[in-house]
Parts: sequence; C-alpha cells; structure tokens
Amino acid sequence: MKIENLLRENIKTIKAYSSARDEYKNASADMVFIDANENPFKTNVNRYPDPQQTKVKQRLAEIKGVSTTQILLGNGSDEVLDLIFRAFCEPNYDNVITLPPTYGMYKVLADLNAVDIISVELDNDFEPKVDEILAVQNNNSKLLFLCSPNNPTANSFNSKKVEQLIREFNGIVVIDEAYIDFSSQESWLGRLNEFPNLIVTQTLSKAYGLAGIRLGICYASGFIISVLNKIKPPYNVNQLTQDKALERLNEIKEVEDQIASILKERDLLISELNSISIIKTIYPSDANFVLAKVDEADLRYKQLIDKGIVVRNRTTQPLCKNCLRFTVGTPNENKTLIKILNEL
Ligand SMILES: *Cc1c(COP(=O)(O)O)cnc(C)c1O
Repeated sequence: MKIENLLRENIKTIKAYSSARDEYKNASADMVFIDANENPFKTNVNRYPDPQQTKVKQRLAEIKGVSTTQILLGNGSDEVLDLIFRAFCEPNYDNVITLPPTYGMYKVLADLNAVDIISVELDNDFEPKVDEILAVQNNNSKLLFLCSPNNPTANSFNSKKVEQLIREFNGIVVIDEAYIDFSSQESWLGRLNEFPNLIVTQTLSKAYGLAGIRLGICYASGFIISVLNKIKPPYNVNQLTQDKALERLNEIKEVEDQIASILKERDLLISELNSISIIKTIYPSDANFVLAKVDEADLRYKQLIDKGIVVRNRTTQPLCKNCLRFTVGTPNENKTLIKILNEL
C-alpha cells in the first residue's frame, strides 16, 4: 500500500505556512526578536509558542518509546482527528468507516468535511464485525475508526480482529486510544513501525487529568506526521498548554497512582451497581467509565438530574437501548451515586 496515493489530491502538493518562529529555530535567549510583530514587553506569553512543541514531544517520545518525528500535537484529539480527515478525504467523494455505537465526533467531523460515513455496527459483544467491514470498503474508503477501549461500550477490541483490520483494510486505520491508560491491553503504539497505514491517537484529557488544556496526540509514521504538520494551524497548541503538559508529563508517578485509584474505585462501583434492582446489565469495562442497562433510561436519567447527578444517557445509540454511562468519580461521588440509585 502506498500511503501517498491515499492523500487528498490538493494535499499532495500543498506548501506549509512558514511562521516567523519556524524560520529561526536555534534562537538563544539574548537575541533580539523583532520578526513577529509581538509586543516586546513581558507577560510570560507575549511571544508566539513553539509551533513544533519540541519539549512536549521530546518528553512524550521518551515516555512512549517513539521518535519525535512520529508525533503530532493538536488542540485536543478533536483537532487531530479533523486534520486526518482533511489530509485523506476528498469532500463529497471519499468515505470513512465507523463502528457504532462509538464516539460521536467521527460523525460530526465527517459531516463537517462533507465526507460520507459507512457504519458497520459492532456485534452483540461490542466487537468489530471484521468480515462485514472488509466487505463494505470500496476504493473511496480512506479511514477506518477503531475506538479501543470504545466509548460508550467501555470494552477494548479483540487484538486479533484489530490486527486483521489493519492488515486488510485498504486505507488508514485510526485507533483512538483516549482510554488506553486505563486498559489492561497494550497500546498499538508498540507496533507503529510495522504498519504504515496505522494512526494511533491519544489525549491528555482523560487519565492525565488535563481536559481543560486541550492536548491531543497523534502517533503515526514520519511520512503521515509530516503531511499533518504541513496542514495544521501553525500555533495550534498554545504556550500555557505546552507548559502545563510538560509539567504533568514530569509527574508520571502521580498520574499512575491516580489511574490505579480510579480503577480500584471502578471495580468497587461495579460490584455495588450489581446489587441495585433498577440495574439490569453491567458491561465489562476496560476504561474509567461503566456502561449499564437500566429498566428505563430516560426516566432514571431525569431522576438522577433532579438529585443533582449528571450521567450520560446513551439510550438512542445502537445496541445501547436503556443504557446509561457512568464516569468513575471521586470515592465520595461514587458513594452518592450508589446511595441515590438505591433510593430510586
Ligand atoms: C474523550 C475522548 C477523546 C478526547 O478528546 P479530546 O479532544 O482530546 O479531549 C477522544 N476520543 C474518545 C473516544 C473520547 O471518548
């Protein structure tokens, strides 16, 4: 498979915007910067940020065991996913494949980019129907989104199925690993070098506790990253985000401790949900949330709101009739949820 042939036509030859900070990289602090029309007086952020986020990428490369040339950072995963659409999909012509029930942004971004969606529902175990997916792909199928662990079903996909899809899909396979830090499965990052058509996305929004700074991460081959780099907005990751991300990436022990405590709380929450009469099924979770089937989702959702608890009602999603999604909260929040569900 030649990845270059998958690119959208106008992207093959596009030239990146060259920003002032891009042109002169090896600046030392005592140089005079009068190239970017900034205000020279210090506010801590009066200068444009590093458009290549070098320090954050270097730290991520160390932690994840990849090269910095295999990393692209964005204003949340949402921006990263949008860049992937724009790089590969011709509007009103190409299509992408998604596996509902799954993360809603794939459809929003497809609609935004005027790209068709082919949906192949997960099977009853919330696993991809591999043969069906491979059978529906056509010459215009550019992207296949695999969200693993999947939102909202909370399971990770069988790795043999994922591998077969990476090998046999004729386009780019995007594995969204937003919840990988909670998972008992290995990240696909370790196998990036084997598959030129693989893109793995991660985020600092979930396990790293930084949803507010908006930092999404894309890992792929040097070639794919170089293309995405050309089309990203030059200063897409602001200075405050870069500083905060770097600080957090240097506190890995604390992040790991929080993940361990969230997972312990999740298992406790599941065992307590098990004895609540309005809960009918609790699906296995490999993430920091739990999908549960209740007797009447719309009713229970409203009752919970009245008691001051906001959960996610997924009842309109395929295979999710009467399902609510609960994020694992603090120990106290989880106790409150259980108490109120018991009262209902
Ligand atoms: C929460 C979530 C993300 C994170 O998106 P950001 O824009 O990085 O906050 C990505 N994918 C899935 C499936 C998610 O649930």
